[in-house]
Amino acid sequence: MKNTTHPALMGSLNSPAPSNAVINFSPGPTSLPKEVEHNIAKIFNSSGLTTLALSHRSPEFVEILDHAVAMVRQVMEIPNNYEVLFTHAGGHGQFAALPLNLCKELTDKATYVVSGTWSERATEEAQKYCQVDIIDNKDSKTGKYTDFPTLTEEKIDTNSKFIYLCSNETVNGIELHELPSLPNSRKHIPLIVDASSDFSTKPIDWNGSGIGVLFACASKNIGHPGLTITIIRNDLLGKGKASPLCPGVFNYTTNSDAGNLWNTPATFNIEVVGLLMDWLEKQGGIKENEKRSIKKADLIYQVIDQSKGFYKTPINKPSIRSRMNVPFNICNGDEALTNQFLIESWEKGMVGLRTLTPFGTGDYLRASLYNGVTIEDAQTLASFMIDFSIRNKV
Ligand SMILES: *Cc1c(COP(=O)(O)O)cnc(C)c1O
Repeated sequence: MKNTTHPALMGSLNSPAPSNAVINFSPGPTSLPKEVEHNIAKIFNSSGLTTLALSHRSPEFVEILDHAVAMVRQVMEIPNNYEVLFTHAGGHGQFAALPLNLCKELTDKATYVVSGTWSERATEEAQKYCQVDIIDNKDSKTGKYTDFPTLTEEKIDTNSKFIYLCSNETVNGIELHELPSLPNSRKHIPLIVDASSDFSTKPIDWNGSGIGVLFACASKNIGHPGLTITIIRNDLLGKGKASPLCPGVFNYTTNSDAGNLWNTPATFNIEVVGLLMDWLEKQGGIKENEKRSIKKADLIYQVIDQSKGFYKTPINKPSIRSRMNVPFNICNGDEALTNQFLIESWEKGMVGLRTLTPFGTGDYLRASLYNGVTIEDAQTLASFMIDFSIRNKV
């Protein structure tokens, strides 16, 4: 069975299945809902210039930008004391922008909660620009992250400029279904959230959770790579607050003052976010989308939990299992069966279940269930998983 050159085993996303049978379970970039992809195609069939050619300062684009910002605000129920920015350079751009904006001096302190690979990366980036305190609970035996640390007073320096966390660890499969509340004595510290892979899939209690900045790269749930939505509480803005080293293109105040037009924004990508938000609104808004996310994830976790160990997922606590990215292995990672699973599912059109990441292929396959994946799509995978386990019972 071992055939390392089969395209399915090399992470190919081009399945021979008919295009309407292809389901993209990639962790990102990935597919948007079919209706949104259709609306994107429509842009190019209309007369007039599109956002690939429109000047960012033209009235036509400004209308598209204003619409995208207004729809993000409406769908995500963002209060008036927050600014919505479209920033550059993906999630990684914000890993650097955050300490550069919130720590004026290299000696300023920041607290990073590390619960997986992405918060680890953010920490490494921040260490260039501030003094980082780390809160984590990596399993000392396995070196793996399987739980979210508790945030107690003694772990958080009262002078910390911010507390950073990732609300969905895309690789490890740990999600906060609700943001943690900080200890009373630390509520003055702004909470920073990397919501790159769960933004738009559940409501957010902005002021209640003490959010200072929340960012999400577009390429998981809401659009295309490069663009990031960065939402900032306005008391954190102001001239002279950022480090003098902060590049203009990363400076929150500079970009907020310029109304997202300090330099050329990613015009087309911004229009796509607007279309995605229109779609979410039409689908019943954020609470309905959360229900769909729960349903999709439940379908896959149920198969895993009822498989008597044929499938296993690394996160045992249901309260922190990711609804967005479901990691699973087959017969404890049996190589021949895993390869057979990947080839069979790929031939049926289920692609992206094992992709290369900056952290390797990992021990687990992963089903990513973003907005582009429907409940029916999740059911198709769940049914295949059941069928595969019956045929290959050991
Ligand atoms: C994908 C991802 C990132 C990185 O985003 P880029 O756009 O590739 O820079 C950061 N954080 C999380 C949680 C992610 O899933």
